[in-house]
Amino acid sequence: MRAKQFGEIALLEGIRRRVGAPRGPDIRLGIGDDCALLRARQGEDIAVTTDLSIDGRHFRLDWHPPEAIGHRALARGLSDLAAMGARPVAAFLSLGLPPQLTRPGGRKAQHSWADRFFDGLLGLAKSHGVPLAGGDLAESPVAVADIVLIGAVPRNRALLRSTAKPGDLLYVTGRLGGAGAGLEALEARMASRKRQSRSIPPISHRLRESLAPHLYPQPRLAQGLFLQRRRLATGAIDLSDGLSTDLHHLCAESRVSAQVDAAALPIHPGATLDQALNGGEDYELLFTAAPAVRIPRTIAGVTVTRIGRIGAMSRRRPVVSLLTTRGQEPLAPRGWQHFSRQLS
Ligand SMILES: [Mg+2]
Repeated sequence: MRAKQFGEIALLEGIRRRVGAPRGPDIRLGIGDDCALLRARQGEDIAVTTDLSIDGRHFRLDWHPPEAIGHRALARGLSDLAAMGARPVAAFLSLGLPPQLTRPGGRKAQHSWADRFFDGLLGLAKSHGVPLAGGDLAESPVAVADIVLIGAVPRNRALLRSTAKPGDLLYVTGRLGGAGAGLEALEARMASRKRQSRSIPPISHRLRESLAPHLYPQPRLAQGLFLQRRRLATGAIDLSDGLSTDLHHLCAESRVSAQVDAAALPIHPGATLDQALNGGEDYELLFTAAPAVRIPRTIAGVTVTRIGRIGAMSRRRPVVSLLTTRGQEPLAPRGWQHFSRQLS
């Protein structure tokens, strides 16, 4: 009865119907047995990443469309695989939901919040050919989605944060700050509605476009694979927290310094320099390459921009700096702290 009330059985059946029976060279068995069975290929390392998304921390039920929450949960994990140059093999999802989110209701009357969450998640999974091979579902006082991504990469060929070298050049895919600008637009929209104490209308097509980098980020799997297969990059990380913070991670792990040229940054239209440096959640790839290596201007349709260079540590410490018209200044790690600002 409890499970029925929660809608768990119906939801599980619905998911299984939608996912089907994923089979392929990597997956022997998907949803339905006690475990999924994956088959490792010879000569490959297995890449595993987990990402926890919690209402009020990584998303807000009152702000984000359920499709975007599902999309973003998977995009975070896929972006980690992209940063390692791994190809995705399978996704696993543990979902904890308040019961009302599994019941039909709202604007799309036949669909529950959970159905729409899966629309977003499975849509992105399909576009990257990643099967959802298992997971767990439970009633929870807070909406929580924990995603596990399994990937594979030729042995010893994964792109790492720890292998950038002094003298390397620093590159980034796509444009920066779009997600930060989108979040700010969303925040402003919610604040103005609150002041007017009106209910929130559906997001218009136009607004959806400017919010897209925040709501529907595109993980750079093809670009990561390209860099890995051609052995172009010496080091790589994905931009989840923001360029300033993620570059500090890369420098700390590689024990190098870095200088970013502010004028070279590919800032997303409508975004500020601050959003490009600290906005976070752009899910672009930040990578390094030896100066003699030719990096294409676009990889699989996405632009690649040289934004700086890697140097030696100074007094045994990694130093990250920004070159502007005023000269060189320290670039502090001021990346996005999820929703801690709004909650505190
Ligand atoms: Mg990452």
